[in-house]
Amino acid sequence: MSENSRLAEPHVMHTYGRVNIALERGQGVRVWDTQGREYLDALSGIAVNTLGHNHPKLVPALREQIGKIIHSSNYYFVPGQEALASRLVALSGLTNVFFCNSGLEANEAALKLARKLGNERGYKHPKIVVCEHAFHGRSLATLSATGNPKIHAGFLPLVEGFIRVPFNDFEGLKRAVENEPEVTAVFFEVIQGEGGIHPARIEYLQQVRALCDARDWLMMLDEVQCGMGRTGKWFAHQWTGIKPDVMALAKGLASGIPIGAVVAGPKAANLFQPGNHGTTFGGNPLAMRAGIETLRIIEEDGLLANAERVGAHLQQRILATIGKLPGFVQLRGQGLMLGIELDRPCGALIQQAADAGLLISVTADRVIRLLPALIFTQADADELVERLLPVVREFLEQSHD
Ligand SMILES: *Cc1c(COP(=O)(O)O)cnc(C)c1O
Repeated sequence: MSENSRLAEPHVMHTYGRVNIALERGQGVRVWDTQGREYLDALSGIAVNTLGHNHPKLVPALREQIGKIIHSSNYYFVPGQEALASRLVALSGLTNVFFCNSGLEANEAALKLARKLGNERGYKHPKIVVCEHAFHGRSLATLSATGNPKIHAGFLPLVEGFIRVPFNDFEGLKRAVENEPEVTAVFFEVIQGEGGIHPARIEYLQQVRALCDARDWLMMLDEVQCGMGRTGKWFAHQWTGIKPDVMALAKGLASGIPIGAVVAGPKAANLFQPGNHGTTFGGNPLAMRAGIETLRIIEEDGLLANAERVGAHLQQRILATIGKLPGFVQLRGQGLMLGIELDRPCGALIQQAADAGLLISVTADRVIRLLPALIFTQADADELVERLLPVVREFLEQSHD
C-alpha cells in the first residue's frame, strides 16, 4: 500500500499506508469514490462522522455558520464555547471544558493538568500512571503515554513521568505505585480502541476511582474514540456509575469538523490559570456550532438508544455468522464500537472488504474494527454482515497462521 501512496502523491509525506481509494462524496452511511463505486461505511472516518455523511439537519446549520463567521480568536468571547461547554457539563456531571482541535490535543491538555497539579504540590518528578496497549496520540507527550513500542520507535527519548501498568489489572497497578510518592493521575481509555477494542472492566474502573479518591489523584479517561454516544451512553464510563476528574473527547464530537475537548471536574477544573494553556484554532465558532448541532441531533433523533439497539443486533448477527468460522477468536466492544478478533494478522482484509464495497479497519494486527455512524439501522447492520462474511471466510480459507 505504501508504494501506491508514494506514486499517487509524491509531494505528501509518507505517513500512511493508504487503501487504494479516494472518497468523493457521501450520503448517510454510503460513500462513493472517484470511480463512482459505492461503499457501505462501517468506519465513519474512524468514529468521526457520528451522523454519517451529508446529514440533512447538520449541513444547513454549518452552511449558515460559515456564512456568519468561521473563526474569530480566543482574544474574544466565543459564545458557542459556553453553549457547547454547558451541554458537555450537563451530560457528564463535570464542571468546566477546554476546547482544542484533536484527540491528542485533548489528551495533551489532560497530561498538562496532571503535571500542573504535581508542580503545585511541589513534586520534583510528578508521575502519571498509563496502560499497556493504550493509544493516546502522536505528539511527544501523548506518544510517550501510549503503550505501543511501534509508536515510540524512532522518537526516543520518551517524555518522562509515566508509569506503565497492565490494563484491567488493579493489583498490578497497586504494586506499580507502591513506592511512588509523586503520582498525580491515572490515565486510560474506557475501551482501548487502537489496542484492539478492549473494554475496561466495570469493577476495574470502580477500583481505580476508589484508589484515586483515597490517594487524591486525578482519574483521567481518554474517551476520544469511545465517547460521544458510540457505546449507547454519552460517555462509555457512564455504564459504570463512576465519574472521572478529567475526560478527553474529540473524534465524534463535531461530526467531522476538527475539534477536541478536555472536560474536568472540581479537582482539575481550576488548575489552568490565564497563560497556562491555549490554542489558536481551538473552540472556533464553526467547530462549536458543529459540536452543538451534533449533540442536539443525537438527542432529537434518539441516537444513543439506536447505537445500543443496532449494536446489540450487529453483535448477535456477527456471532451467528463470522463467529462460527474457524479462525474467529472473540467479539468485543459495546454499541457501535466492535472488534472481531481473528487468530491471525488480517490487515489484508481492509482492501478486500473495500473491493466488496465495505469500509472497515483492522487494528492491533488481528482485530477487525467496526465503528459505523450512530445513524446505522438494523438493515445496515445486516448488510454489513452480508458483505463482510464472505470476505472473512475467503480470507481465512486462503491464509494460514
Ligand atoms: C484517535 C485517538 C487519539 C488521537 O486523536 P487525534 O485526533 O488523531 O490526535 C487519542 N486517543 C484515542 C483513544 C484515540 O482513539
